Amino acid sequence: MNHPLRKRIEKFQERFDDLKKRNLYFYQAEIEEINGAHAIVQGRDMIIFASYSYLGLIDHPKINEAAKKAIDELSTGTHGVRLLAGTTRLHNELERRIAEFKGREAAAVFSSGYVTNLTTISTLLGKDDYIFCDKYDHASIVDGAIQSRANFIRFDHNDMEHLEDLLKEIPEDKVKLIVVDAVYSMDGDMAPLPDLIKVKEKYNAILMVDEAHSLGVLGEHGRGIEEHFGVEGKVDIDMGTLSKTIPSVGGYIAGDRDLIDYIKHNSRAYIFSAALPPPAVAAAKASFDVIEEEPWRREKLWENIDHFVSGLKKLGYDTMNTQSAVVPVLLGEDELALKLTRKLWDEGILIFPILTPAIPPKTARLRSCVMASHSHEDIDKTLNAFEKAGKELGII
Ligand code: PMP
Repeated sequence: MNHPLRKRIEKFQERFDDLKKRNLYFYQAEIEEINGAHAIVQGRDMIIFASYSYLGLIDHPKINEAAKKAIDELSTGTHGVRLLAGTTRLHNELERRIAEFKGREAAAVFSSGYVTNLTTISTLLGKDDYIFCDKYDHASIVDGAIQSRANFIRFDHNDMEHLEDLLKEIPEDKVKLIVVDAVYSMDGDMAPLPDLIKVKEKYNAILMVDEAHSLGVLGEHGRGIEEHFGVEGKVDIDMGTLSKTIPSVGGYIAGDRDLIDYIKHNSRAYIFSAALPPPAVAAAKASFDVIEEEPWRREKLWENIDHFVSGLKKLGYDTMNTQSAVVPVLLGEDELALKLTRKLWDEGILIFPILTPAIPPKTARLRSCVMASHSHEDIDKTLNAFEKAGKELGII
């Protein structure tokens, strides 16, 4: 190909080749087998510290069984899009289950969390409207804002004064949507939900919260950030994924019935893209039962988080302001993050570096994710590996 695009690809290829040559390319590692919090990768047993399966529900027998039964009853695919022949009994059951779990009137399910944010924002907003996003909102929210063609305004991370200053400028009769992550996927900190509710009420705005990393993790029953802060029902548009704590794929919006009906009949993803396959839907539905039936998982998860974070801090690592199962280990330069990852991999820890441009420059980090399925020994072994590698690299 002899085209200006060629230059862009070549530039990328240079970095890619350099990392591979120096044995510092870790992405797209092939998981060969899975065994609780361990995996076989490149023929070796590794402790997974990079999974979103916070409650350790991947490979849960009840969830696996539900998926198998769904294949027997309804097969592996659907007859098309949700609005036409793609809705099975299981899709409706899952939506009712999510609505019940989240204490909402109704819910709509889509084929991924990414698509859920993209389609919801671009369905609800148009070019005369305003969307206010936290600077660290997930890419799918940003992409939804761009696709909606609404006036796209970003406020400093968790900065309510900044948000208010921006909202003040907008005429009262305009549609204003505030969108935040409940737990920020790169930093692990939480949105200040009670303050956000005050601001949205004061300026007559609508509040949408992405619970990708908080569902099952936050709140006494794992219902998420509203339960955590005791403000149930105050968020207008409650978004979540079925690919993290829930070991399946998909995303949902839960809220008032009229909102859900509107989204279902106007969302291009709902109308023009295939419905989720029955086994994925059944697995997701069974997962909500397991979250309720096995509260010990959340207790174990928080015990593990405390053990891991306090261990890292004691060693002298900077875990930023984590308040969740996402535990960043701040390093600064990309190169240092890559070298630490190499050493941890050599000790059998599966963990990944997060580099620019996914995060602001000079804030490269390893993003560790804690699970309920980690044993005490898994965490101690990982902390020992962090100690050895950190000393060798002069980080601690
Ligand atoms: N929102 C957030 C905050 C996320 O972290 C992610 C996935 N990393 C998504 C949405 C997209 O979800 P999914 O992977 O299910 O498409």
